[in-house]
Amino acid sequence: MSTSTSSQRIVVLGSSFAGLTAALEVRKHLDDGHEVVVIDPRDHFTFIPSLIWLPFGKRKAADVTFPLAPLYERKGIRYVEAAAASVDVSAHRVATTTGEVIDYDKLLVATGPRLAFEKVPGLGPDGGHTQSVCNLEHAEAAAAAWDRFLENPGPVVVGTAQGGSCFGASYEFLFNVHHRIRKAGLQDVAPVKFVTAEPFLGHFGLGGVGDSAKQVEKFLDRLGIEGIPNSSITEARDGTLVLDGGRELEFAFSMIVPPFTGVDAIRESDGLANPMGFVPIDERFRHPDHPDVYAAGVATAIAPPEDTEVPAGVPKTGQMSETMAKVAAENIVADVTGKGDHREMPISELSAICVLDAGNNGIIFKADNVLAHGRYADDATPSARVMAGPQAHWAKLAFERYFMSSRKRGMVAL
Ligand SMILES: Cc1cc2nc3c(=O)[nH]c(=O)nc-3n(C[C@H](O)[C@H](O)[C@H](O)COP(=O)(O)OP(=O)(O)OC[C@H]3O[C@@H](n4cnc5c(N)ncnc54)[C@H](O)[C@@H]3O)c2cc1C
Repeated sequence: MSTSTSSQRIVVLGSSFAGLTAALEVRKHLDDGHEVVVIDPRDHFTFIPSLIWLPFGKRKAADVTFPLAPLYERKGIRYVEAAAASVDVSAHRVATTTGEVIDYDKLLVATGPRLAFEKVPGLGPDGGHTQSVCNLEHAEAAAAAWDRFLENPGPVVVGTAQGGSCFGASYEFLFNVHHRIRKAGLQDVAPVKFVTAEPFLGHFGLGGVGDSAKQVEKFLDRLGIEGIPNSSITEARDGTLVLDGGRELEFAFSMIVPPFTGVDAIRESDGLANPMGFVPIDERFRHPDHPDVYAAGVATAIAPPEDTEVPAGVPKTGQMSETMAKVAAENIVADVTGKGDHREMPISELSAICVLDAGNNGIIFKADNVLAHGRYADDATPSARVMAGPQAHWAKLAFERYFMSSRKRGMVAL
């Protein structure tokens, strides 16, 4: 804990994987003379990885969420239940949607993605024709759509649109949909197709992880799922997904992860973000032009290691988001206290652990230096282990339990 005398205010925007981790880490390492403020319009933390199970009744909202206010109160963190409306980086000031203006000495942006459904006409659950499991409300709407599907089953299309980056989530949802269809005995009336912006199956926006291409292709083959990589969706109509080139895929149920951008408040704040709304970062996860601004998680601007024919974003997974948050937090603490070393982590050194659950089976990927190629090629060497089998399902269940119980208590060790 620091003994610095000049009091500083650290403001964290967003309170999910990246924001919660950063706020707790900064609070743990700074004395009470410094203030930590978290701003987020959601009063609950949601364990997003379990949202894939909500549509099938395997989880309820209460199983995958916990309230933020009691945790922050216990930890001595001020929690503002509002969205940031704008950031003035010259004045070091955040304005909220509830009219509050909060000055900061250090700012950490962890506002995640904006789900840009409007980029594909007819996409998404709000006025469109496809479902999403990217947030709690969408997963609940997908549950109602799944119930309607069970009454009137037909073909299913799952996937990730061009400009999306959360490929693991759509694979997991695909495998779970397939599992549920089989359990319901509907396989003859409900063939499943998978559309993805990835140049090949198992690319994941990372260029592949070990032999992921082979493993994923084998998995889909075994399940009898047609995978359609390199896809760009031009339109979603009621019951039909139209691909670039004119191919039409009929569906009675469809879940498509949309393109991601940064959130409006960040994109529209002068000098803060790139045109997509993502915040540029250096190796300290600090803004290159604004040394008092840091960013972590999906809010960061990380270009794909290699360009792809159809735009496919880099997945900033929950675990990567927490890693970035820890590095940023350590650097904020070093800035504030003037003690300890700053920490640098090149993008090439990010690692990824990904469990793709398939209901009773699945695939586990563990990859180090996962982006150490293409534009990030350096001395770091990518290495990966890929395992398929029922242990993946049990690993996901165990991790969910561990994560929810540790984060509820404010522990972010792993
Ligand atoms: C269905 C699904 C399954 C997934 N499964 C896995 C998995 O198994 N493993 C894994 O590692 N990753 C998984 N992921 C990815 C993981 O959920 C993300 O990497 C993670 O949520 C990113 O965390 P984040 O904090 O950057 O952003 P988010 O989790 O998106 O959080 C952003 C936060 O910012 C807040 N916010 C937004 N705008 C504002 C504003 N203007 N002001 C203040 N706050 C704001 C939001 O309310 C939210 O709380 C999955 C994702 C999905 C969609």
